[in-house]
Amino acid sequence: MNEPAAHRFSRQTGAHPFEVSFEFFPPKTDVMEERFWESIHKLAPLHPRFVSVTYGAGGSTRERTLRMVSQIKAETGVDAAAHLTCVGASREDVDKVVHAYKTAGIKRIVALRGDPIEGVGRPFVPHPEGYTSAADLVAGIRKIGDFDISVAAYPEKHPQSPNWDADIDNLKRKLDAGATRAITQMYFDNADYFRLLDRAGKAGITAPIVPGIQPIHSFKQISGFAARCGASIPEWMAERFEGLDEDPETHALVASAVAAEQVLELVDQGIKQFHFFTLNRSNLVLALARLLGVRPA
Ligand code: FAD
Repeated sequence: MNEPAAHRFSRQTGAHPFEVSFEFFPPKTDVMEERFWESIHKLAPLHPRFVSVTYGAGGSTRERTLRMVSQIKAETGVDAAAHLTCVGASREDVDKVVHAYKTAGIKRIVALRGDPIEGVGRPFVPHPEGYTSAADLVAGIRKIGDFDISVAAYPEKHPQSPNWDADIDNLKRKLDAGATRAITQMYFDNADYFRLLDRAGKAGITAPIVPGIQPIHSFKQISGFAARCGASIPEWMAERFEGLDEDPETHALVASAVAAEQVLELVDQGIKQFHFFTLNRSNLVLALARLLGVRPA
């Protein structure tokens, strides 16, 4: 059997060449917070490039996001990135959040437009005095400080984009406004990601576009998320999980096989950076990192 590419790299160089980042959401309850910290403490020793914490719909987690990123940095020493959106807030209010991140020593921001409070898929209407798009937000953040800024990219096109050209133009605007990298929306067919890289390359985009990997802790839950954000579930994947709702052990084994296939195929194609959506759980992500040779120091 051929030696896996991830292993070949580490044998040749003595170190794994992969950079990983982990995305969490701010916990709502004490029980959820316990799981959040347990996962952070398991994943921090892998020395991720950063751990990011999302910003709830309409800015609903403003204080919690700030508290979590500050605490992650203080407790683990890992670089923390705070997500930020411009939904339902004036520029002045959003700028105050950016200043609060700066004061707390947070140097990384994931800058997003966000979705309307009424729900994903509804037309986005900017606040009358607010930032109008992620590109506009990136330019605003740049004026406040020298942050490392990530933005979103869409392997299956943003659902509200009229066409691919508009979507790639928009991605380019965000990067040109001062973002360092893009992180993709979840997707399950690597061909979509490679087509995005190809389109971006042809448009002159040189910044890294890091694949966003969503391990499937619950196929039912992830299918719901995917439908809401415009990511499609391939038929073969639905078939693999079919009938496993009541069989958590087989579900977990299939989930790790599916995610491993996706990640290792990317490795075979030369991809070296990965962003994992953890949903505040560590087990599947720990296993995937191990396949990449990324282990606690
Ligand atoms: P934008 O890049 O501004 O673009 C969205 C759409 O509007 C695109 O179709 C674009 O083509 C179009 N558009 C933009 N500007 C113009 C213009 N001037 N004229 C015409 N059309 C335009 N959401 C949260 O609420 N909180 C989070 O923490 C969060 N984290 C995320 C992390 C990642 C990695 C990703 C991929 C998404 C995340 N989201 C989050 C979801 C994100 O907010 C939504 O996908 C949202 O619908 C779009 O945000 P954006 O930053 O891509 O918007």
